[in-house]
Amino acid sequence: MTKQLETGILNVRNVGRYIFREHALNLLPSVLESRSDINNGPIFFIVDKFFEGSAELVSDLPVRRIDRVFFIPTEDEPTTEYINALYTEISQAGGKHVRAIVGIGGGITLDTAKAISNLLGNGGRAEDYQGWDLLTKPGIYKIGIPTISGTGAEATRTCVMTSKKTGLKLGMNSDFSIYDQLLLDPTLTETVPRDQFFFTGMDAYIHCLEALAGSYRNPIGDALSEKALGLCQGVFLSDDMMEEENRAKLMVASYLGGCAIATSYVGIVHPFSAGLSVVLGLHHGVANCIALNGLKEFYGPAQEELTVMAERQNVVIPQSVCAGLRQADLDRLYAATIIHEKPLTNALGSGFREILTRDRVIELFSHM
Ligand code: NAD
Ligand code: ZN
Repeated sequence: MTKQLETGILNVRNVGRYIFREHALNLLPSVLESRSDINNGPIFFIVDKFFEGSAELVSDLPVRRIDRVFFIPTEDEPTTEYINALYTEISQAGGKHVRAIVGIGGGITLDTAKAISNLLGNGGRAEDYQGWDLLTKPGIYKIGIPTISGTGAEATRTCVMTSKKTGLKLGMNSDFSIYDQLLLDPTLTETVPRDQFFFTGMDAYIHCLEALAGSYRNPIGDALSEKALGLCQGVFLSDDMMEEENRAKLMVASYLGGCAIATSYVGIVHPFSAGLSVVLGLHHGVANCIALNGLKEFYGPAQEELTVMAERQNVVIPQSVCAGLRQADLDRLYAATIIHEKPLTNALGSGFREILTRDRVIELFSHM
């Protein structure tokens, strides 16, 4: 059995309930009705803006007169400023006695719904809870319905956001950030653009490879990671990653990968990816692939496999995104990377700063 270090997550919590099946979305009314123990106030639907034009999905939602639908833009990943503004709007729309928050979309939307639920339960501002275990009370009952697979946001104990003021990309890491209920419906991912499907899907692969390469281990997390990694390899090494069965497999991999990461931490790819997101505004999935591509010396076989998978799926991973950056940007890249102490310690030990010196980090970015 793997050596389990005490610094990992000791007492692991998982999602309360889930339904996995095609057209699971249709079961939302019965799931809501089955919760007679929650109050009868408004339900707030937090929905990816992509579906604003999709009459089917929105008209199928059980929206009553007192409920509200909020469409979430996805051009930018969530900022604390955005979350605070949405929280204010939702509070004014009767947020004190909310029956449920239903998040429908990708990682951005699922994280936004988690953050709103947390703030409704705890008050204050989003930045107050960026960090580890800072929430003291449960949020509002929340249901997650992913429409793209990979981040595992549906299963994890965090919701990621960036503070524009501090440049910090950090989540509300807490058991209270875990969804109470999921509806996992692989039919919803049919419309995802191919590149996006690849980049987001590879997040599951990267979470699992980083967890398995780290030193904070959990035997159940390891088993979940191994299974999820195998599913991702099956999907991305096949001829068509978006074929029906593959979309279902990737949804399973995303969930398992999220559960795995809820027992441990990521590694070096995610801190570098966060740097790329904070400084260059690159989105999480594509930034991860760029980062893994440039971290061959740490994750050689995975970097080679990434290249094969991208070629097989006809996806181009951007290169030279850091070319021509000014000194001030390089400083920000370093700062936004090195701040991720837990994952970097997981990957390299407590002396990670001696390995990832400022010059070394900047040199690695120069290859990305
Ligand atoms: P996303 O939310 O960034 O969405 C990507 C794009 O796909 C958007 O344009 C969106 O509109 C579109 N899209 C989503 N579903 C679609 C569908 N069915 N059809 C067509 N288009 C669709 O996607 P993501 O990669 O899942 O999420 C990235 C975010 O997740 C980042 O903000 C990242 O920080 C966060 N994240 C969170 C966790 C966590 O544990 N909470 C883990 C990893 C990443
Ligand atoms: Zn990730």
